[in-house]
Amino acid sequence: MADVWSYFANEGDYPDLGEGALAERLAAALAIPTVDGRTADETDWTQFERLVLLFRENYPRVFAAASEERVDHSLVLTIPGSDPSLDPVVFMGHMDVVPVVEGTEGDWDHGPFSGDIADGYVWGRGALDMKDQVVGELEAAEYALSHGWELRRTLMLCLGQDEESLQTGARAIGRMLKERGTRVEFLVDEGDYLVADTAPYGVPGHHGLRVNLAEKGYADVRLTVRGEGGHSSNPFGGTTLAILAEAISRVANDSWPVELTELDRQMLAAVAPWITSGPLAPLVSPRPGETHRDAIDRNADGIAQAFLRDADLFPFVTTTVAPTMIEGGSQQANVMPQDMTATINFRMLPGVGCDRVLSRVRELVADLPVEVELLEDVSNDPSKTSRSDGWGFRVLERVAARYFREPGGGEPLALIPAMVCGASDARMYEGVCDSCLRFSAFVADDEEVARGVHGTNERITTRAYAQGVRFMIGVIREALL
Ligand SMILES: [Zn+2]
Repeated sequence: MADVWSYFANEGDYPDLGEGALAERLAAALAIPTVDGRTADETDWTQFERLVLLFRENYPRVFAAASEERVDHSLVLTIPGSDPSLDPVVFMGHMDVVPVVEGTEGDWDHGPFSGDIADGYVWGRGALDMKDQVVGELEAAEYALSHGWELRRTLMLCLGQDEESLQTGARAIGRMLKERGTRVEFLVDEGDYLVADTAPYGVPGHHGLRVNLAEKGYADVRLTVRGEGGHSSNPFGGTTLAILAEAISRVANDSWPVELTELDRQMLAAVAPWITSGPLAPLVSPRPGETHRDAIDRNADGIAQAFLRDADLFPFVTTTVAPTMIEGGSQQANVMPQDMTATINFRMLPGVGCDRVLSRVRELVADLPVEVELLEDVSNDPSKTSRSDGWGFRVLERVAARYFREPGGGEPLALIPAMVCGASDARMYEGVCDSCLRFSAFVADDEEVARGVHGTNERITTRAYAQGVRFMIGVIREALL
């Protein structure tokens, strides 16, 4: 059924966890439709209250030991450690889920909010993104407390309310921590739920787990051309469509700087020992006395060019430009269009902010009658880049080595420092934490993630869920006791 299990090791740890009971408590959380309504007004916050009530019922020791704060509709639980000189560790997550696309409810084998457990899976919206990790974090904390483990370091659970839309919950929590002067040693937030194949680097058959340390920036730029329409027999000065097409073409064909970032270099260094064939092999191979990283630094420009030619790798070395929406246009061939707009989506490398995107687009179309505007509500600068040489990363490495290995008890899967294209809650904490580790130990097969995250039949195997809980317990043991 599932392939991802072949990478699991030490599933016998904590036999009293009880996979069946774990699955039931996850299913109960999935049955509560904490749907992100895109705006605060359209979200049914009573569902979030129900979810918190369920947590209180299912994780009594956590709620007894923790101080509980509500930040808007988000939840912050702080379980104090015995040594206040140690900075806290934060387990993050978001309680909201994306809606089910109207009309597709019937395509689910088990309803998106049925809370069904069947065929080895827990079914429902949020099973992967990301009530599994949220509930799994609570399970791990409950397990530790119920076995009398004493935390030396403070553990915080920070659970946001609107990661899928505005991220106001995480923003408010990040601000609150900053105002209090809290420093966070490291945080674990959602990753990509995958065991990553190293095939994109030209070496299929090796695997790793990505730890996302940075987020690309995101900017939507809207171009507008205004026109009166009229008969197409006299298109003097060009139709609005012609002008818009020219503007889109200039923006889309513009070239942005190409750079092998520090994070790209770390990512490549993590997989370099396996790269023995393909176009990258000679570029990462060390000379006598060199490390792989030395070779990567020496050949950085050549590697960046190789990435640029590769469909999977090119977004890591440059700012991407994707014209995505166009509106207006005439319904008839002999009538000129009136006002027309196009939206162009940018994903920016670290160092390229929204301001720079906006000014570059304005420059490119300066001689055309085109209005240029940045859609500020949805746009954001790239995040900072978190550390891969910090203690938090090493903690994840040690725990991952116990639970995720090549099939048949082979080598531990490498942790691969990486960059993501989406914006998530974690960047709201970068003012208080230099190790924002976006990592998910709750993994599924590639096909499962591609279909289920934000799609139909989202589900997680009870077996993978239990392994994720073991992992989080492992983090508590390594980092908090
Ligand atoms: Zn998510």
